[in-house]
Amino acid sequence: MVDHVKRYFLSTFCRCGNNKKKAFAFCRPCFLFLPHGLRENLYKHFDNGFKTSYRLAAEYLKTHGKWP
Ligand SMILES: [Zn+2]
Repeated sequence: MVDHVKRYFLSTFCRCGNNKKKAFAFCRPCFLFLPHGLRENLYKHFDNGFKTSYRLAAEYLKTHGKWP
């Protein structure tokens, strides 16, 4: 079963609606919008902390109005 984080990770659309590269968490504008501390954790291996980092970053983007 593929969970939703992995589905976004493997898709070519960012949750903001922009295109993004497959196996990247977010499109470039969303990624650059994140503070440094949240960004570097997104380089972690998918099964080794990435999901938690993704959730924190997603929360941040939602709170700051980047995502609907
Ligand atoms: Zn985006």
